[in-house]
Amino acid sequence: MQGLYRAQGIVLRQIRLGEADRIVTFFTQSHGRVRAVAKGARKAKSRFGARLDAFTHVDLQLYKGRSDLDIVTQADIITRPRHLRSDYASFCAASAMADAVERTTPERENNVRVFLLLRSALQALEEGAVDPPLLAYAFLAKLASISGLHPALTVCVECGAGARVAFSYGRGGVVCDRCIERADPRASDELLDTWTALLDGEWTDLRTRSLPETSAREFATLLLGFVQWHTESRFRAFALLPVG
Ligand SMILES: [Zn+2]
Repeated sequence: MQGLYRAQGIVLRQIRLGEADRIVTFFTQSHGRVRAVAKGARKAKSRFGARLDAFTHVDLQLYKGRSDLDIVTQADIITRPRHLRSDYASFCAASAMADAVERTTPERENNVRVFLLLRSALQALEEGAVDPPLLAYAFLAKLASISGLHPALTVCVECGAGARVAFSYGRGGVVCDRCIERADPRASDELLDTWTALLDGEWTDLRTRSLPETSAREFATLLLGFVQWHTESRFRAFALLPVG
């Protein structure tokens, strides 16, 4: 396929290209993750202005040529977040979400569920959250789940017993004291219930919650450990979020 096409997209990030241009990474509603050149975007009087700032939801016209990179020929704002771009904790949480999407989605593979999840999570951050890192972790839990990494959190993944003592990254769920292996990190009920709450929680509710003080750091380590184990990728933007 070559030629012009239209798509709605959310800006994940942009990097400089030469003196005047930028490479913008979008997650689009209809074409998955797409990277495109915005010519002249770094000039003071660029026709793109602030339209391609991170986390902006835009209506795009793109040109696909022979290169891996498409060309942005037109961009119109659908929504441009203000609060989340000016609040440091929210901005960091949004950056971690965008980074997770980049690491877990192949280029040009349509996935409307990821698009809708990202749009709702950014909207929740924009509306103001008590604990922005919690929203980022809820996003990661939900993103992993819809990408096939859905953990078994209620009973032992090996034998079905109800006593949960640890979590096995490799087996993808909780294990009991008979099925635990040496490398499995211990996991309290509080921690596993937090995971369930984030997975199942509606954004309107998650906005008003915060991670439990006693186990926030432990929870972050467990969820990140699970996702990193299966994706063989380091989610550095998550490791930098202030938790606990
Ligand atoms: Zn067991």
